[in-house]
Amino acid sequence: MNILVINCGSSSLKFQLIDAQTEKLTAKGLCERIGINGSQITFSPAGGEKIVRQAPMADHKEAIQLVLDALTDEKTGVVKSLNEIGAVGHRIVHGGEKFAEATVITPEVKQAIRDCADLAPLHNPANLIGVDACEALMPGVPMVAVFDTAFHQTMPEEAYLYAIPYRYYETYKIRRYGFHGTSHDYVSHRAAEILGKPYEDLKIIVCHLGNGASISAVKNGRCVDTSMGMTPLEGLIMGTRSGDLDPAILEFIANKEEKSIGEIMTILNKESGVLGLSGGLSSDFRDLENGSVEGARALKAFVHRTAKYIGSYVAAMNGVDAICFTAGVGENSVNVRNAICSEHLGYLGITIDQEANQKRGEEIEISTPDSRTKVLVIPTNEELAIARQTYALVK
Ligand code: ADP
Repeated sequence: MNILVINCGSSSLKFQLIDAQTEKLTAKGLCERIGINGSQITFSPAGGEKIVRQAPMADHKEAIQLVLDALTDEKTGVVKSLNEIGAVGHRIVHGGEKFAEATVITPEVKQAIRDCADLAPLHNPANLIGVDACEALMPGVPMVAVFDTAFHQTMPEEAYLYAIPYRYYETYKIRRYGFHGTSHDYVSHRAAEILGKPYEDLKIIVCHLGNGASISAVKNGRCVDTSMGMTPLEGLIMGTRSGDLDPAILEFIANKEEKSIGEIMTILNKESGVLGLSGGLSSDFRDLENGSVEGARALKAFVHRTAKYIGSYVAAMNGVDAICFTAGVGENSVNVRNAICSEHLGYLGITIDQEANQKRGEEIEISTPDSRTKVLVIPTNEELAIARQTYALVK
C-alpha cells in the first residue's frame, strides 16, 4: 500500500509517497510559497530527475491538487491513479494531552486538534488545512494524524510540570509537552535494534540536533524527559531559538528597549540561538565552522548546553546505555559530535573512534568498541515513521 505523508506548514507543504510494505520511497517533493507570489512545486520521483515547476497555488488545496497531479502524471508520475494511494499520514505538531499515539482522523479528532491550537498557533491550524485539503480531494481515503508530542506523553509528572502555581496546569494545561517525538521514537527504537537488545531494557539519550534541536531521555521503552517544553522554544540552543534562559530577561529587555512581549518573543524565536550568539553570522552550523571568533563562540555555547543536558538525563535515568545523534547537525557535524563527547562525556566511559566519526549522514557507531556507553549516529526518518504508524492503523 502506498502511503502519502504530508507535512503542512503555513506557506509550504512537504510530501513523500512511501510503499508501506517495502518501506521504499516512491517519490517526494515540496510546495513552497503557497498563497504568495512565486510559488513552486519540486517533485522528485525515486531514481528519477528532480522536476521544479513554477505554478500558482492560491491555497493548500491547490497545492495538494498539484501534488496529486504530479504523482499521477502520465509521463513523470509514479502511480497510475489516486486509487493506488491507500492512506494519508499527516504530521500534526501538537496533540496536547489528548493524543499519546497516532490516530485515524475523524471529525472529533479534528476538533481536538483545533482545541490544541492555542498551544501551537502557527502549526496546528496549518496542519489542519492540509487535512481538509486532502479530504476534499481524496474522498474516502483514510487519513491518520501523527503527533510530534505523542511520544513524550509517557513523561512522569515531575518531568512535565513547571514550578509555577499548579492552577496554571489545571486551568490552561501549561506543562512540558516536547516535540520532534516521531524522530525521538524512531531513533531510539533503531538504537535498540542496532545494539541488539530489547528496547524495554535500555536507557537511551537521543540528541535531535537540527535547526530546531531537542534531546530526550528514553528509559525502559518510555520517554521520561525531553528538553522542549510547552512550545519548541525551551531547552537546547538552536539555529535561531534561544532555548533556556532566565525569564526575568524578558522584563529587563522590555523595560530597556520599550518592547512588547510579542516583539521579545520574535527575538527569542527568530534572532537568537547560534544566529544571535554569533553576532548575526549565521544560523547554519556549516557557516559557524569557518574559523571565526563569532562562529566558535556560538558553537562552544551550543556544545556546552547540549553536554549539560546529556548529563542531566544521565542523572534522571540513573545511567545511560547509548547516546544517539540525529538530524542535520547531529548526522553531519563531525566537530560538534566530537566536542560534545570527547570534551564532556569521558566520565561515561566514552571514547570516540575518530575515523568512524568522520562519516556523515549514515548509521554508524562512533564510540570505540571498549566504550562503556555507546555513541551512535542514526539518520532520522520522520516520514517513514509516519508512514509506518499510518499503515499500522489502516491496513
Ligand atoms: P530542521 O528540520 O529543523 O530545519 P535539519 O535537521 O534539516 O533542521 O538540520 C538543519 C541544520 O543542519 C542546519 O543548521 C545545517 O547547518 C546543519 N547541517 C547540515 N549539514 C551540515 C554539515 N555538513 N555540517 C554541519 N551542520 C550541517
